[in-house]
Amino acid sequence: MTTETVTKRDIRKLKLDELKEFFVQQGDKAFRAQQVYEWLWKKSAKDFEQMTNLSLATREMLKTHFTINHVLVDTMQRSNDGTIKNAIKLHDGLIVESVLIPAEKRITACVSSQVGCSLGCKFCATARMKRMRNLNPDEIYDQVAAIRQQSELYFGRPLTNIVFMGMGEPLLNYANVIAAIEKITSPQGLNMAAKRITVSTVGIAKMIIKMADDEVKFNLAVSLHSALNETRSSIMPINDSNSLEELGEALKYWYAKRKKKVTYEYVVWEGINDTMEHAQALLRFCKIIPSKVNLIEYNPIDDGEFRQASEEKLQMYLHLLESNGITARVRKSRGKDIDAACGQLANKG
Ligand code: SAH
Repeated sequence: MTTETVTKRDIRKLKLDELKEFFVQQGDKAFRAQQVYEWLWKKSAKDFEQMTNLSLATREMLKTHFTINHVLVDTMQRSNDGTIKNAIKLHDGLIVESVLIPAEKRITACVSSQVGCSLGCKFCATARMKRMRNLNPDEIYDQVAAIRQQSELYFGRPLTNIVFMGMGEPLLNYANVIAAIEKITSPQGLNMAAKRITVSTVGIAKMIIKMADDEVKFNLAVSLHSALNETRSSIMPINDSNSLEELGEALKYWYAKRKKKVTYEYVVWEGINDTMEHAQALLRFCKIIPSKVNLIEYNPIDDGEFRQASEEKLQMYLHLLESNGITARVRKSRGKDIDAACGQLANKG
């Protein structure tokens, strides 16, 4: 009896060049790597058996050296507005959530970058989970690939947009998020346009500067929620070490380098930021660089500490911003009935 002592490597951890090198070492042609790579990424093959343009011998050889790791859609819930929430099981059994949001002209995948979150925003359900770990690039990529399949299957339309607005803070898992986006936008991956991708952040100034230096092509959204330090610090602890002034400077740098508008996400809460003083502070902040504002509807996650402000207050914000040339719109939540809306992702299931 023999015991197999070879530990197999996850083939999806290899770059294309490394895979080419592997084939050459095996006395095979480098272009095999291209074929395998296409199966692994473009076609999301979960098994070497699926790679039917390779000889049986090659498939067997690959099996002795490698495994293919993939995330699994553990459960899927459909909202009555069409939104689909997936609980995605990662390689180690931990779960993150990813959401498909259908609209008339677009289908958006909302993906997670971390299991849980370390930032502690008071109004966000994910914050209550604490951060457990960063997602690997392939785990981020696979969420998009899975939603892309659902988009075709359930709506007969291609996935058009991706937002990093699921669980976690993407800029605290920067390298892996960038690696995933590279694959998502690559012709060898999903071939999606970077301008269709938006990374949403609490606004970590030094990482926004890094993004500008790296000349990333995707869009930037900042969860602002208040343009007054005292209020912002009281609801978003990150603001203590990363003030609005630092954020403003980083955004100036971003705009100087990238020439791209930023989107501010902003919830108006009763008694927290629903006065003219707050609206005016937002307007001043919006003038730092070209920007637009999404006033997002609050999705209650608690027993009433935070309450959505009245329609009248939203109109006050809209009027002030728009009459000063800032594009602003109210964003209704999707998937609320299945806890799939912004800030509601917390693995309740
Ligand atoms: N960490 C990133 C991405 C995740 S959250 C970020 O902060 O941007 C995606 C958006 O949902 C953020 O704008 C966040 O502030 C917002 N959000 C969090 N909890 C919410 C809630 N209960 N209702 C509405 N929006 C919420």
